[in-house]
Amino acid sequence: MLLGLEEASAGTATLLGKDIQSTLIHDRGVESVSSIQMVFQNPFDTLNPSMTVGRQIIRALEVFRVGTNEEDRGKRMLALLDLVKLPREFALRKPRQLSGGQKQRVGIARAFAGNAQVVVADEPVSALDVSVQAAVTDLLMELQRKNKTTMLFISHDLSIVRYISDRVMVMYLGHVVEMGSTDQVFSPPYHPYTEALLSAVPIADTSITRKHIVLDGDIPSAMNPPSGCPFQTRCQHKQQVADNRCEKELPTMKLMADNHELRCHLSDDFLGAMVPVIQLAN
Ligand code: SF4
Repeated sequence: MLLGLEEASAGTATLLGKDIQSTLIHDRGVESVSSIQMVFQNPFDTLNPSMTVGRQIIRALEVFRVGTNEEDRGKRMLALLDLVKLPREFALRKPRQLSGGQKQRVGIARAFAGNAQVVVADEPVSALDVSVQAAVTDLLMELQRKNKTTMLFISHDLSIVRYISDRVMVMYLGHVVEMGSTDQVFSPPYHPYTEALLSAVPIADTSITRKHIVLDGDIPSAMNPPSGCPFQTRCQHKQQVADNRCEKELPTMKLMADNHELRCHLSDDFLGAMVPVIQLAN
């Protein structure tokens, strides 16, 4: 919806005070399109194989109407290569001459070419070699801080989420199930789905212990979701809620603390007694 690929069926989305929830991308002005940009998951598919890296970045500058003439855009393109820490001579290379991490840096340069206010990064490092994931993540963080850009970072990798985020939203079957600051979401009380996700984070450090939670069953189809709570077919705490309420009623978001909300029928006493999933061994 932010990017204008879908219309909102409810609620509102605004960018700098302007409603954008029902304006699809082809009806948006240049300013609005350049304000919200995307870094895609797979840099191997998103670059034009027949165009040089420099031309692709200049093309983005032209589309966003940045720069006064070809020469000015050429200088800006080189500055963008500096920004994403790629050598300037890469401007003349074709995408096939770049590694996955280098391609993703070009994707990031294009996303920041129009001075975006919001960058949506959809699993931006999951397709990359593990050895370059940290460097690309650090680059995104650095650019976000330097340009004061809002970044919406979508990921299944909770270690990166914890490292990069100020606020975290956990979603299950299209529902927001927990939302809060990074510290709030990564400490109890947890939504039962967050608790299970945290228990699955791989940790090599033997001085750390962790609760093991195994979720039974497959994720139900979002086209045919279960009744009541979306997580009820797999929840490890469902029996703690009386009268089969989890199967009948979709929980509302419950405020646990300042700006920390979760969607669950569990009592405040039960949630308050939860222990950390990951702890230092004694
Ligand atoms: S509402 Fe019930 S099924 Fe859903 S997460 Fe809470 S305890 Fe589990």
